[in-house]
Amino acid sequence: MRTAPTILHLDMDAFFASAEQAAKPSLRGKAVIVGGLGPRGVVATCSYEARVFGVHSAMPMAQARRLAPNAAYLVPRFGFYREISEQVMGLLRELSPLVEPLSLDEAFVDLEAGGAAWDEASARLAGAKLRADIRVVTGLTGSVGLAASKMLAKIASEQAKPDGLVVIEPGTERELLAPMSVRILPGVGPATGDHLRRGGITTVGEIAEAGEDEVVRLLGKAHGIALYAMALAHDERPVVAERDTKSVSVEDTYDVDIHDRVRVRMEVQRLADRCVRRLRGAHLSGRTIVLKVRRYDFSTLTRSETLRGPTDDLSVVREAAARLLESVDTTGGVRLLGVGVSGLADYTQEDLFAQVQAQAEARAHADEPEHRTQDEAKESAEEQEAPAVRRWSAGHDVWHAEFGHGWVQGSGIGRVTVRFETPDSEPGRVRTFRVDDPELEPADPLPLRSAG
Ligand SMILES: [Mg+2]
Repeated sequence: MRTAPTILHLDMDAFFASAEQAAKPSLRGKAVIVGGLGPRGVVATCSYEARVFGVHSAMPMAQARRLAPNAAYLVPRFGFYREISEQVMGLLRELSPLVEPLSLDEAFVDLEAGGAAWDEASARLAGAKLRADIRVVTGLTGSVGLAASKMLAKIASEQAKPDGLVVIEPGTERELLAPMSVRILPGVGPATGDHLRRGGITTVGEIAEAGEDEVVRLLGKAHGIALYAMALAHDERPVVAERDTKSVSVEDTYDVDIHDRVRVRMEVQRLADRCVRRLRGAHLSGRTIVLKVRRYDFSTLTRSETLRGPTDDLSVVREAAARLLESVDTTGGVRLLGVGVSGLADYTQEDLFAQVQAQAEARAHADEPEHRTQDEAKESAEEQEAPAVRRWSAGHDVWHAEFGHGWVQGSGIGRVTVRFETPDSEPGRVRTFRVDDPELEPADPLPLRSAG
């Protein structure tokens, strides 16, 4: 393992919610919850002001509404977040050729590979400058962890939140980890945590004390050996740049729209099976599972989830696809479904193990932040061409011929309420229109200015 804390982990703070607050002056300092607003919706991200009420990522939206009834509830605008994400990833790539994105708002960077840092002082400087640059370019804050390994860098950024920087000095890792819950280790969720607890182990230090044989006895060989190594802070996983964005995917178009949710789920499972057969046939594995849904009105959504490592495991792909489907409203009917795997890579046993474990535990307890599902959705060209009824999604931008740029605060019973404000304006006023007001039209998001 390297001897300087030159692996950087960046995690943007409450990314979607912060982006919305930056875009909407009236929401700054307020509880903001971004996610699926339908009956099965879950919270994608919430602002720190909402976390005070106990709301967190992956919580069912209905529960969030009970906890924070007065929060602003917004539908995600993934195109907007992706633009900001690209700015942030651009800054990371200026630091090093080795940037490994984990999601829209999270990435590892190998600072040594780019010559940006070689010891603790230079790493600290690079991390501080990165945070300042992110602030200037996007107006948002991100937290930085620096350590000698990926595992510790991620723990450090978690400790740095929000809006901070934490360095874990090489040599202090074991001491730092010892009192921490076993759950801090990658791949340890509630199920493994229970297993270990029954064996009398609750902290990382107790794993180290128990010895490898005992941990293997409790958890089996593959998991036990890997976990014991991590408890000793041994993590040699390199930062791997995204080399290959090719994907393997399959899709089906249906003659008659599918309305039955159970049938939609079955079709997605069937497509996942076919996709994995093709993946294995090509001796490939991939990190990102993609679900594509074209709805009755030709609007097309893609949602994706990036795993910790590449997989060609049928159950992992099936489960990821099923999870992604849960965030899509299909009540009006579905005319096309697709499942794909991208971020193709060579198969590695260790990564596969870590991620199968992580996924199984994410399934058991979706509230574990490190296993958070990362949704992405993309409005396709078809969506812009979609005729018929206009949908005014909460949080999306609009333009009114008389009042200018605003965003949808809510809609219902033939009315849509719009707040007219822009990222650099004062908090704006609210006006209500008929949903078919000819002077009101959907608009693109405005770019964020640097924070004042
Ligand atoms: Mg984040």
